[in-house]
Amino acid sequence: MAWTTMHFGVGMAGGAMLFGAGCLFARKGWRWLPLAMTLGGIWANIPDMPRLFRVDFPFLNLTSTLGSMAFERSLHRWGNIFFGHKALDIQPHDYAIHGLIIVLILYNAAIVLLMCLPRKSRSPSLAKHKGQSTKCDSHDFRQAG
Ligand SMILES: [Zn+2]
Repeated sequence: MAWTTMHFGVGMAGGAMLFGAGCLFARKGWRWLPLAMTLGGIWANIPDMPRLFRVDFPFLNLTSTLGSMAFERSLHRWGNIFFGHKALDIQPHDYAIHGLIIVLILYNAAIVLLMCLPRKSRSPSLAKHKGQSTKCDSHDFRQAG
């Protein structure tokens, strides 16, 4: 039974791979990579959301709808479309710290990637500006806005 951090980390990696492939194909959009990774992490945790509504937020009164056990079971039945959620739940380890490490590494890798990409790759509107640099330096970072 993997913990939430592991599901989130695997979902982030899946989101990064899918969105990164799209960016490579389209040759743009890299600045949205962190958002795509976050959405991948949320997607990977969707099968556990009914439990969240039922146990952690009972005052929302969603136990009979979004927080029902039947809904949770049906989501877990389809669990592997949520970046392998079912497979991670079946195996015996929790991998909590491993998941946290994956999350931290991926967010920091995205930060470094965005700092190092040439400005025109991050934002097409900035490509019109003079003095484009393809080097990874602090000058690039200040004008990334
Ligand atoms: Zn689960």
